[in-house]
Amino acid sequence: MMAAIRSSRAVFGNFLQKNLCPAISARASSVWAGVPMGPPDAILGVTEAFKKDTNPKKINLGVGAYRGDDGKPFILECVKKAERQMLEEGLDHEYAPISGFPAFTSASAALAFGDNSPVVKEGLNATTQGVSGTGSLRIGAAFLSRFYACKEIYFPAPTWGNHNPIFKDSGMSIKSYRYYDPKTCGFDFNGAIEDISKIPEGSVILLHACAHNPTGVDPKPEQWKEMSQVIKKRNLYPYFDMAYQGFASGDIDKDAYALRLFIEDGHKPCLAQSFAKNMGLYGERAGAFTIVCSDKDEQARVLSQIKILIRPMYSNPPIHGAHIVSKVLNTPELRKEWLGEVKSMADRIITMRSMLKDGLASEGSKHNWQHITDQIGMFCFTGLKPDQVDRLIKEFSIYLTKDGRISVAGLSSSNVGYLAEAMHQVTK
Ligand code: PMP
Repeated sequence: MMAAIRSSRAVFGNFLQKNLCPAISARASSVWAGVPMGPPDAILGVTEAFKKDTNPKKINLGVGAYRGDDGKPFILECVKKAERQMLEEGLDHEYAPISGFPAFTSASAALAFGDNSPVVKEGLNATTQGVSGTGSLRIGAAFLSRFYACKEIYFPAPTWGNHNPIFKDSGMSIKSYRYYDPKTCGFDFNGAIEDISKIPEGSVILLHACAHNPTGVDPKPEQWKEMSQVIKKRNLYPYFDMAYQGFASGDIDKDAYALRLFIEDGHKPCLAQSFAKNMGLYGERAGAFTIVCSDKDEQARVLSQIKILIRPMYSNPPIHGAHIVSKVLNTPELRKEWLGEVKSMADRIITMRSMLKDGLASEGSKHNWQHITDQIGMFCFTGLKPDQVDRLIKEFSIYLTKDGRISVAGLSSSNVGYLAEAMHQVTK
């Protein structure tokens, strides 16, 4: 017996020595000695620098979170009311189903596709709750990576900085199509159509449903129509990212135009939604992911596989934000109030754009700033060059990302004049 143990120890010891991973055997000090320092997040880095600045006139235009005209985080009244009702109802803290609460997922899908959409009416939407927009995009990316034949996705250039790692980490390879034209600070429609026409058949194409981030440049309805036709001809798979429904125009139906047009045109896209911006629920992480299916049987099969993907990732989604969203969307008075509040947020942003453009004109700027009001949604791609951005930060304590993007939601009637003055100074 002892001999057997001794010999098994010897065998095991040999096995360990022979099979020790070289990275571990070479380094006795720490297992993680070889982990390199990663770069800081570009946007969070802006906020860090802003926090350290002691200039009382400082402005943070880096973060994509809405602020009221007082510059403070904004809690929607309809959200406060929904939370009060939830407290009175004494909701418990049990687990949600893997794909979220049906009251949440149905209301989310109806909001995106429209109450009368055949997708919703015929139950062709395989919809799951996701961890806000990012988590929803990630579920979709993982699903495509596992089940879709082509692993190539085409992004508009530029696109939101997180798209790249979300899809790369899910095993997709990334390409791009022309989108933004720096000469006009607008949409490069001809470039986009030309590039999309050459995308290999069957590839995935990512489309920002509205309020394109970071440029604030959206195609016009006629341009969407043409894009839809070209995408259909090339047999591409459309992946919509809708993080700003209602936030662009102030009208949730108008902002869903592109998605609904694609459905009318016979596409069967997938869709990631976020309630971070349009309900001000940033930290609650409420979002949804939908795959539009051909029939009920396919819908059931697809949803079953989505659940199989989710279960080992995070088991089931957070419940608080989902309860708020379903209460607001499913209670007529709260929904009505929400639609008004979304409009008021979008309108304030639109007003800030006009004030900035007018402010530049009053400062005597001779540049064409028309794009400030042509662009839409939370962000404005100012066209400022990296050295001009540097001057804004160093000389004026106005913080923004290197690409010249400003979050218009960070402006208020009391600081927009200062920004106009500073922008004029660095672009003279
Ligand atoms: N997509 C785009 C284009 C975005 O701008 C954002 C937010 N910055 C998201 C998705 C997701 O945001 P969240 O995860 O906070 O919902």
